[in-house]
Amino acid sequence: MNRVVFPGSFDPLTLGHTDIINRALPLFDEIIVAIGTNADKKYMFSVEQRKHFIEKTYECNPKIKVDTYEGLTIDYCKKVDSKYILRGLRNPADFEFEKAIAQTNRKLSTIETVFLLTSADNSYISSSIVRDILRNNGDVSLLVPDIVIRN
Ligand code: ADP
Repeated sequence: MNRVVFPGSFDPLTLGHTDIINRALPLFDEIIVAIGTNADKKYMFSVEQRKHFIEKTYECNPKIKVDTYEGLTIDYCKKVDSKYILRGLRNPADFEFEKAIAQTNRKLSTIETVFLLTSADNSYISSSIVRDILRNNGDVSLLVPDIVIRN
C-alpha cells in the first residue's frame, strides 16, 4: 500500500492543510495525518480538539486516517510502515527549512519527502495567523474548515 504520513501541529487545521491533503489524495492509497505532540510546546487547541477537527472534516473519506505521535517523524513512519512524508511549501522560508529536514531524514533513513506547492489562493494561510485572529475574536471563516468555527 502506498501510504504517506502528513505530519504537523495542525493547531488548528486550516484550508491550507486541507488543500494539501485533498491534492495528495489521488497520489496515495492512504494518508495518515499525524499530529506531532511535544510536551514542551504550548498549543492553543488540545490534541483531542486538533484530532477531532481533522476526523470530522474527513469523516466521509476512508483513505484518510488521523493519529498522534511523539518523537521523530521518521520513527513514526517506520512504525506505521510508510515510505513517504508529505509536506506543503508556501514560500522560500518553508523551502529552506524543509530542505534541511528532508535531507537529514534521507541521511537517517530511506524515507522520501514529497512536497506539494501551496495553491495561490491558500499560500498566505497559517495556523499561527489563525490563532492570532481567534485570540482577538476575529472572523476566521475564510481560513479554516467549518468544524473549527463551530468549536
Ligand atoms: P509544522 O509545525 O510541522 O509546520 P503545521 O501544522 O504548521 O505544522 O504545518 C503542517 C504542514 O502543512 C507543513 O508542511 C506546512 O508547510 C503545511 N502547510 C501549512 N499551511 C499551509 C498552506 N497555507 N499551504 C500549503 N501548505 C501548508
